Amino acid sequence: MNRMARIPTRGTRPERLLVDAVRRVYDGPLLTNVAGLPGTPDVVLPEKRVILAALGCFWHWHPADGCPIAHLPPIGPTGFDWTRKLATNRQRDARNRTELIAKGYRVAWCWECALIGRAARCQADIDAQVAEFIGGPATSIEIAG
Ligand SMILES: [Zn+2]
Repeated sequence: MNRMARIPTRGTRPERLLVDAVRRVYDGPLLTNVAGLPGTPDVVLPEKRVILAALGCFWHWHPADGCPIAHLPPIGPTGFDWTRKLATNRQRDARNRTELIAKGYRVAWCWECALIGRAARCQADIDAQVAEFIGGPATSIEIAG
């Protein structure tokens, strides 16, 4: 955790949108892509013990929660079992969140569908939820489209 306020030059569009939202509502120290913590969290606010992660809806299997934009592909000719693969990703995410909370962090998951696409929330809504989480007592939240 030593890359203070680094401006991310890589990362997905949802990650960049989430960092932008955090920056609009919080001007303290902000770390990105922190490799020393479970899951290499996208955003860590060390003074707040807050972690925020942007989750791609397909790869993190948001369809299991009724995602408005992502759907599982049909089983292709190779017979590749996406459900099994993506369920493994989801279990890993949940385990990482549990470990982070055990380390004293509060964790917000911001799903891709809240940030981009036809079900995206407006910027003011995202900012308000992020600000409320950073300042509030909740242990974990999920922001979805
Ligand atoms: Zn989603």
